[in-house]
Amino acid sequence: MSEEGKKTCEFRAEVRKVLQILTNSLYTNKEIFLRELISNASDALDKLRFRQNSGETPIESDLPLEIRITLDKDARQLTISDTGIGMTEQELGDNLGIIARSGSEQFLAQLAEQSAGSEGEDGGKKAADASQIIGHFGVGFYSVFMIASRVEVYSRPAFGDGGVFVWESDGLGTYTVSSTAESEPVRGTKIVIHLKDDAEEYAEKYRIEGVIRKHSGFVPFPVYVDGEKVNTQPALWREPKSQVTPEQYKEFYKSFTYDQKEPMDWLHINVDLPVQFQALLFIPDEKQDLRLREEEYWGLDLYSNRVLIQHKNKDLIPVHLGFLKGIVDTDDLPLNISRETLQENRVLRKISQTIVKQTLSHLEKMAADDPEKYTRFWDNHGTFIKFGLQQDYLNRERLISLLRFNSSAMEDEKAVTSLEDYMKRGLEGQKTIWFVTAPNREAAKVNPYMDRFRRKGIEVLFFYEALDEFMLGEQGPYKEWTFKSIEKAEDKDLEAFADKEDSTPKAAPLSEEDEKTFDGLVARMKEVLGGKVKDVVVSSRLADSAAVLSMDDGITSAMDKFMRSMGKDDTIPVKTLEVNREHPLLRALLRIYKADGSDAILTGMIEGLFDSAQLMDGFVRDPQELAARNARLLEQSAAWYAEVRKL
Ligand code: ADP
Repeated sequence: MSEEGKKTCEFRAEVRKVLQILTNSLYTNKEIFLRELISNASDALDKLRFRQNSGETPIESDLPLEIRITLDKDARQLTISDTGIGMTEQELGDNLGIIARSGSEQFLAQLAEQSAGSEGEDGGKKAADASQIIGHFGVGFYSVFMIASRVEVYSRPAFGDGGVFVWESDGLGTYTVSSTAESEPVRGTKIVIHLKDDAEEYAEKYRIEGVIRKHSGFVPFPVYVDGEKVNTQPALWREPKSQVTPEQYKEFYKSFTYDQKEPMDWLHINVDLPVQFQALLFIPDEKQDLRLREEEYWGLDLYSNRVLIQHKNKDLIPVHLGFLKGIVDTDDLPLNISRETLQENRVLRKISQTIVKQTLSHLEKMAADDPEKYTRFWDNHGTFIKFGLQQDYLNRERLISLLRFNSSAMEDEKAVTSLEDYMKRGLEGQKTIWFVTAPNREAAKVNPYMDRFRRKGIEVLFFYEALDEFMLGEQGPYKEWTFKSIEKAEDKDLEAFADKEDSTPKAAPLSEEDEKTFDGLVARMKEVLGGKVKDVVVSSRLADSAAVLSMDDGITSAMDKFMRSMGKDDTIPVKTLEVNREHPLLRALLRIYKADGSDAILTGMIEGLFDSAQLMDGFVRDPQELAARNARLLEQSAAWYAEVRKL
């Protein structure tokens, strides 16, 4: 057709402003122009399929439904074609010349100001995210002008008389629509993009393929780049559960996460109410990186009708389900939603609530049906569940029931118990869940406070992470049982529970006079230890151990250590030394003291006793001195031993 046949029209005012802003400023994320064009192509194919399914026959009815992209590096040209519904002359003008949703003047003004050159901290121009503008105006197609100096849209409607019309524009203010003798497209739409000088990269095959995989990897029609199919993975979450095999789930997981290992489990959710969405969530078979605050480490990918809206969205799951990896797809969100609107979105909140409920049910079922598998889950991701106790008060009871701990009743360090089972094994009348914090099982077992619990046969949970006590120590009651550290056990807490018969026999009671002398020994100990202790007292809480260092301000030693490490305090705390008057060692010290209160050996032994108590508490003050003193005592006792046995 001749030039006279062309109608030149103006974009509406707002479009012009948006175009100006889009094209003349520094925007990040320019690549999403392709997401917009592929989504439009996919919609066009959908519309065609819909009408075909309702009995209409399009032109060239044998043509496959597909999207083809061809690249010409030399001509700096990118072409994207679809075999979809196409546009008539009228539609080309209506659809590409008018913005559907009108934008607010205020937002425009704000953007104009921003793009006019606000300097970032590093002196460079602050880059705004192009998807925000697109989101705000619903101007998907126009984003092409971020990278195009000129665009031609050829279209042949699938239901029509077969003519091709072309829409052309340089995105600067006007466009033309005219008929053309072009033979392509045979059906549907072909968009020829002449790339700007600084957008050459979009004529590179690897670049285009990367963008498609990232944003449009799951569109339901094949997408070819220079003849090669790029989107080979189906949107598995859209398939009916019954038709997906475990192999397909595993395969999908691997290509989605680049994880070599298979997932340990997955949830496939398909919900219509209160919001429509599908989700495919995987539980990895590996410990997750717990740097939860760092963006990249958690979140779910949010899709709108198979097209990625946001990678690692953090509104879809609470941080304590951060071990989940996967995809959520909803038709209840527009593709072009902006980030700010996303954050306060009601739809996302509802989806998140449903995911939390279903995930907890899934884990509860796993714990009940396959304890071995659940233990593996716990080893990998248990820390997340503990975090949940601080975050999700509504689901507190359910989260607590998912906790697992090693305990004094377990055969080895691998075995774990639920609180439910702990409570079932509890002694008659026991309403306290007892725990001790220790770096490992061996340390927990020799903790001096364990003595009395061992004697009475009361099970104690072993907390191996500093976090455990922090999360649980301060929890209110659970099913009427309270959590308590064995360090804080008072006599009245335990008096109802008798010692088991096989306990080691107790030492004979001291005479009244010896009791007084013992007080003298205690005073002597205090004198010897000086500023290293707050006080020395006789303890009723020890059974098999000779002494223990204790905090007397209600805080446990584990909490104290935790807080010190948070505050980067590496001084050694000064504590009270509690001694066990019934212990053979103390009885022997008493005999020496009675003979000579200032005996040098006695002094060395008092220091040695303190050293071991401090070691048990996890601190070493002066290793050289400790070792030297120890060597002296060994040397002396070896000599005496040889003497006594007349060797
Ligand atoms: P949106 O897709 O959000 O409606 P766009 O600016 O991306 O906004 O597109 C405007 C309209 O142009 C679309 O709604 C559609 O009717 C039409 N359109 C765009 N691309 C195509 C295409 N490849 N085939 C058919 N129609 C299209």
